[in-house]
Amino acid sequence: VELTIHVMGTRLDRFDARVQRVLGQLSPAGAVAVSIATAAVLGGGIPWAFRLDRPISLVWVVAGAILATLPVLAVAAKGHNLEIHRLLLVQTGYLDGLGTFSGSEFEHLIAALYESQGFDATVIGGTGDGGIDIEARRGEMRLAIQCKHWKTKKVGPREVRELRGAILDTSVTPVLVTSGLCSDATRNAARERGVDLLVGVDLIRQLQELVSRISPHCPLCERKMVPKDGSRGKFWSCITFPTCRGSEDFYPPLIRAFGRTH
Ligand SMILES: [Zn+2]
Repeated sequence: VELTIHVMGTRLDRFDARVQRVLGQLSPAGAVAVSIATAAVLGGGIPWAFRLDRPISLVWVVAGAILATLPVLAVAAKGHNLEIHRLLLVQTGYLDGLGTFSGSEFEHLIAALYESQGFDATVIGGTGDGGIDIEARRGEMRLAIQCKHWKTKKVGPREVRELRGAILDTSVTPVLVTSGLCSDATRNAARERGVDLLVGVDLIRQLQELVSRISPHCPLCERKMVPKDGSRGKFWSCITFPTCRGSEDFYPPLIRAFGRTH
């Protein structure tokens, strides 16, 4: 399954890059025009010209509607310096939940994540030395962690170089954590320079593991709580809902469980 996902992901990346190379050149007005033309030709022109039956013309209408979104998406994605499918992941809230809290809360959450992995993590208040937000150590291992709490902006090779340049002590491993995304060029730069990356989907996965390990107790009935997605983002809900309507904000229990506020 993982291989299939990987192959599909690579194909999607290539398709995405190709579409974006061509359609990303359009101006916003041009993209809208191409979208309308695509929808009109595929959804209207072809079924009319070939006098297609209803079910078959419906297929053309749907195909036209889907393809018509591509030019607009390509231009929007280019504006955010993202690939189309990554823009969709962001826009559909896949990488969300992280977008709802402040930079300082994000730092404490990341510190909590490292604490949960056996590190002794300290959030450095204000603007730390060389932009370091968290210092973490576990035995001989020392990490200097920089948090970029960006939603749609991509972490680039430049951020990797700057972080590397700021850490002169060779016994310390620089770590760049972002709630946003990064490109292959960023991953390559990080590998070459010995900078660890914790990015987007990987970060979400690790946070989900953390969430599954700590679930708070319901303030009303003391039973376990489960994470749920609400209209205002993630929250903890009593496992017996709707019998009991106990709920709690999502992040404080995580931070209480592992975070340190010094
Ligand atoms: Zn309850």
